Amino acid sequence: MQLQVGQCGLCAHFGEHQPTDPQIIQIRLKKEAPENLVEECGHPNNAPLHLMVTPISGCKGFEPAKQA
Ligand code: SF4
Repeated sequence: MQLQVGQCGLCAHFGEHQPTDPQIIQIRLKKEAPENLVEECGHPNNAPLHLMVTPISGCKGFEPAKQA
């Protein structure tokens, strides 16, 4: 799946607890991700809920990841 700005796959909070995960780094570089991937959102509002999101999900808490 091709990712757009605003989607979880390009958000700094996507898989935030494992920032060196090569798969997440690749997603940010290529702006592409498998649609069936699920990662935890690290946004302070969502982390206590352990919200799980796919790369094509999104929310208003989006913050661009540094590599994006
Ligand atoms: S749910 Fe919102 S804050 Fe969390 S990764 Fe997706 S866009 Fe970012």
